[in-house]
Amino acid sequence: MSLYHLSHYEIKRGKNKVIIPLGSTEQHGPHLPVSTDTIIAEYFANQLTKKIPSYSLSGIPSGVSFEHRPFFNISITNDLLSELLTQICVSLGENGFNQIIILNGHRGNMGVVQYVPQKVEKINPKVKVYGINYWQLIERDFDHGGIVETSLMLAISPKLVQMSKAKSGYLNRKMLHATYSSFLSNSSSFKITKNGVLGDPRNATKEEGKKIISTTLKNLLRTIKELDRLLAT
Ligand SMILES: [Zn+2]
Repeated sequence: MSLYHLSHYEIKRGKNKVIIPLGSTEQHGPHLPVSTDTIIAEYFANQLTKKIPSYSLSGIPSGVSFEHRPFFNISITNDLLSELLTQICVSLGENGFNQIIILNGHRGNMGVVQYVPQKVEKINPKVKVYGINYWQLIERDFDHGGIVETSLMLAISPKLVQMSKAKSGYLNRKMLHATYSSFLSNSSSFKITKNGVLGDPRNATKEEGKKIISTTLKNLLRTIKELDRLLAT
């Protein structure tokens, strides 16, 4: 359930976790909207609230996407994102929420998400923050506007997908895996794709999206359970 739809009197603190979907605003090729990462992160956050005692917040649409230049992106710096997430978590802690999940939907935010739990813990040791990158649990090779993201969007928000415009992008996965860090640190990395796509979205289907959702949700729940167990000891 979204916390934003509740009144002050309805919000139950204590054992409930708060899930912060973290997205981006960046090009996803000619067939997907710039909100793709935020929509997917919000979707998984909302699904999780049906499975575990928790509330979700609206997705944060501002991430670190400078690598998409000169394609469209609205980006903020690592420092600002780190400060934003840290302050939101500290404020949630002051409001009685001690378990927070940052559900990240964009690779460029990874570096920040990794350190926010430590920053928050230094300010308020009672607040535990789990930073989870959902795509690490999808059991597929991740892409950008390729078959995975496009299938997910067909399952979550089909009206926003323009399949007739879907075209194959950059396909050399081995090279990408080997050089991803330097790829991301180059502020115009996506130029090599020509059309902004990593992977091939043309065979994407709603059914494939549903399969990815089901696997990912299972893995997310397993991961959260395990983090609960580890952090309780
Ligand atoms: Zn994406």
